[in-house]
Amino acid sequence: MASELAYTNIDDIPKIHARVVSKFKSGATRPLAWRRQQLIQLGKLLQENEERLAEALRIDLGKPRLEVTVADIGPVVFAISVALEKLDEWAAPEKPTDLPSWRSNWDTTVYKSPKGAVLIITPWNYPYIITLGPLVGVIAAGNTAVLKPSEMIPTVATALSELIPKYLDPEAFVVVNGAVEETTRLLELRWDHIFYTGSNRVGRVIAAAAAKHVTPLTLELGGKCPVIIDPNTNIELAAKRILYGKQANAGQICISPDYVLVPKDKQDELIAAFGRVAKTFWPDSPMKSPDLGSIITPGHRDRLTNLLQSTDGKIVLGGGVEGERRMEITIVKDVSVDDILMRDEVYGPIMSLVPVEDIDEAIQIVNDRPSPLVIYVFTEDEAVKQKFLEATSSGTLCLNDTYQHLAVHEVPFGGTGESGYGAYLGKTSFDTFTHTRGFVNVPFANDPQMALRYPPYTQEALNV
Ligand code: NAD
Repeated sequence: MASELAYTNIDDIPKIHARVVSKFKSGATRPLAWRRQQLIQLGKLLQENEERLAEALRIDLGKPRLEVTVADIGPVVFAISVALEKLDEWAAPEKPTDLPSWRSNWDTTVYKSPKGAVLIITPWNYPYIITLGPLVGVIAAGNTAVLKPSEMIPTVATALSELIPKYLDPEAFVVVNGAVEETTRLLELRWDHIFYTGSNRVGRVIAAAAAKHVTPLTLELGGKCPVIIDPNTNIELAAKRILYGKQANAGQICISPDYVLVPKDKQDELIAAFGRVAKTFWPDSPMKSPDLGSIITPGHRDRLTNLLQSTDGKIVLGGGVEGERRMEITIVKDVSVDDILMRDEVYGPIMSLVPVEDIDEAIQIVNDRPSPLVIYVFTEDEAVKQKFLEATSSGTLCLNDTYQHLAVHEVPFGGTGESGYGAYLGKTSFDTFTHTRGFVNVPFANDPQMALRYPPYTQEALNV
């Protein structure tokens, strides 16, 4: 049964803020040994409580166990292991080489300073990777943090607020639970960095609040992520990889394939391939499958069924609903660019097929819309890849697969334009929560060589 979420008392929020600020100012979070110990503790929290955490997400979101382990808890454990391995390298001060000879004996260094007290505000869809993933960067970089998970997943949020103080330093890392009122109170306070993941609408509220204190901000937002099919691609494999990405968390993921731009004469071939793939994924129908997650609330389910009732496109796969929160992966064909399905991010198990003449029309449709978090292109043609790289804009360009770039910690994960700004994953997480601080020591011994800069100014100085 879902837990009832105990919201944090509003009056306690400034005290919690003061606590994590004071812990940071004490200097205790700076030593690498402390950071390592906290990272190991976070890893233990996840491994020793995997059953509880997975069960919490099953209760709140109906998420299948494999998806929790592979896509939510596993990536955080992996991020911790990478951070532990690379911490010395990431945190090491950098000394620029090839200084000009006249200042070759100056001490010129870039230090990696922790930013301070960080506020992390997160949504409900992948609560472990999205809440604890950034926390790995926060800890590795030597900061403290308050975490504000989504109130829509009460069992998960309860588990996090009970487990975090048992494993991590309670003066440094605190969970605040609540909804708009509690988050608004948090946002009134001065933070050294805010890391927000969620909707574009709320992202604007967060940005306005951050601006009041000139607080650096990461905005991980949403949008409509397009898929483009090159006429010469392997349609069968493309269909499998697209449907795989679409069914993850029942389409409730910021990088879910939202619509497919398919050459007109390939649309039916693609639909037939989706049908074959669907039979292999869910042999006894998707509704009977334990591998298909639920919709977060009945209200969200109603929004999705309203979309299906209002579209001018034709449903060619799925369309069924069951109970208050179950919906089949649904594919709609012949969707026009101004159809209701093409207005806002779908954020659910519906995918539109939009027929196009060619790749150039597909690029134009993508470019007429806000920059998405990711563009997926199925092609093995180098010229087409290059064209997308040069003629479009997105957080990431992912070729010949969906969703998989999230596993690649060597490239930053983040948006551009309306899909947000800033990024994380791997070293980028460390860098996001680090201030690169310049350190320049000008030796007194060099003063004779610098004497010409002092007034009274002379013609001789200009001639040097
Ligand atoms: P949301 O914006 O409604 O909620 C996110 C967080 O903001 C929650 O913790 C919530 O309590 C808080 N919040 C809500 N309203 C607020 C307000 N008025 N003032 C202050 N705080 C407020 O988002 P959601 O519905 O949970 O998530 C869906 C969106 O998140 C989708 O658009 C999706 O694409 C996006 N998303 C983006 C990423 C990414 O990595 N870029 C990942 C997951 C989800």
